[in-house]
Amino acid sequence: MSVSAERALEMLGEGNRRFVRGEAQGRYSAEERGKTLEGQEPWAVIVGCSDSRVPVEAVFDVGVGELFVVRSAGHVLSQAGLASVRFAVEKLGTKLVVVLGHEDCGAVSAALAPDPPAWLGPIIDHIDVSAVDPSHAPHDADDALLAAAVDAHALDTVEELHAWFIENDVPTPPTVVAAAYKLESGEVHWL
Ligand SMILES: [Zn+2]
Repeated sequence: MSVSAERALEMLGEGNRRFVRGEAQGRYSAEERGKTLEGQEPWAVIVGCSDSRVPVEAVFDVGVGELFVVRSAGHVLSQAGLASVRFAVEKLGTKLVVVLGHEDCGAVSAALAPDPPAWLGPIIDHIDVSAVDPSHAPHDADDALLAAAVDAHALDTVEELHAWFIENDVPTPPTVVAAAYKLESGEVHWL
C-alpha cells in the first residue's frame, strides 16, 4: 500500500523538523537495511541539486528505502533524470515528487552571471532567470535576487515535470511540489 502524496508531505515536514531541532533518528541500522532486501517502496521522489551542503536523506531524516533521489547541479533534468522520476512513479508507485532548490545555489548563480563558461551550458541553459532582474551583474546579485531566482527555477522545474508527464502519457501523474532549503537553519520551505 503506497503512501499518499498528502501523507508523504506530512512525513517530510516532520522529518525536517526533527533535523532542524537536532533530533534526527538516523535510521540506518542493519535491521533497517534488512527490511529493504525484498525491494523498495520509496514514498517520495526528491529532485534536488548536487550541492554537498544539501544532504537530502539527512534533511528529511529518513532511513533506507524511503526516498528516491535524483540529483544534478541546479536540479536540471536530463532525459535520464526524467526517466528516473518516471521509474519511481510508474514502477515503484511513488505519489509525491518534490523539487528541492536551496539557498546560495551555484548553478542558479552561474545562470545569472554575464559570461559563464561554455561548458556550463548543459546546466544553465535549462535555468530561466528572466523572471528576475537581468540587469544585475553577479557582483551585485544580492542574496535576495539569487533566492528569488532559486524559487523561480524550482517552480519552473515543477511545471516542466507536469508538462513532461502529460506529453509522455504517464498513467498516474504524481503530485509535484517545490521547496527551498536554508543552509544554516536546515529548514525546508514549501513554495
Ligand atoms: Zn545548487
